Amino acid sequence: MSTPAKSDRAAWLQGPSAECSAVPAERKNPWRLILLGAPGVGKGTQAELLTERLGACHLSTGDAFRAAGMQSSCSQSPAMRAALEYMRRGELVPDSTVWEMVRERSDCIVNCGGFILDGFPRTLGQAESLKELMEKEELSLSAVVDYELPLDDIIQRLSGRRTCEKCKSVFHVTERPPKVGGVCDRCGGHLFQREDDRPEAITVRLEAYERSTAPLIQFYKELGLLLPIVAKGSPDEIMARTMEKLEALSMRLLA
Ligand code: AMP
Repeated sequence: MSTPAKSDRAAWLQGPSAECSAVPAERKNPWRLILLGAPGVGKGTQAELLTERLGACHLSTGDAFRAAGMQSSCSQSPAMRAALEYMRRGELVPDSTVWEMVRERSDCIVNCGGFILDGFPRTLGQAESLKELMEKEELSLSAVVDYELPLDDIIQRLSGRRTCEKCKSVFHVTERPPKVGGVCDRCGGHLFQREDDRPEAITVRLEAYERSTAPLIQFYKELGLLLPIVAKGSPDEIMARTMEKLEALSMRLLA
């Protein structure tokens, strides 16, 4: 399989007026995946690895909010400024704001060569809105991958996570330490702890997950789309487990 050209995801991160540097090639049966799982299970890392393998676009609502947060505050709408406050506290952004942002970028869902949704949907309301959009566009989901990890492992992963302020590469103080403390191996940028990875915000995020997002597991199970994956081990091990299940699924779909 040839490696697809890397997209900067400009249309997703900056909004519909921006154009992506690489548009994925037209595929006959593009992968349309949702990644579910508590914060810290490694959805973002898996989404990046899967994007490289499957050539679909990595669509993370958290990344889109963080990109909006980098803009000057006068170019942020009042709803976006409020959303960034929710985010800082580790709370979920209201459905209306999330859907407004996703709807504006629906071209990324409808017209790209497949997608990997990471961090969306996070509530039953968001899942229903996505289902409606996809039904209207006559698109179907390939699968919903649910990454499972015990709570202690999740807290350890989140509290040790460090992100490069320049290239956004992700490190971990013990599991994936940079060669020089606090400095990104890839670009030399400064590594920082995301505000919502601080202990008080982690508790709020995990509670929000249990209350609002965990019910999606049953929702997608009933639709026959759920693929549970154990998220223990290295990113490559988790990726191999995911690919095994996706390959088995595509064999079943082709049979
Ligand atoms: P993430 O990078 O996916 O962990 O998202 C970071 C933060 O962005 C979350 O803790 C929420 O505050 C906000 N956020 C991202 N996606 C959503 C969503 N689909 N619904 C509500 N809030 C979201």
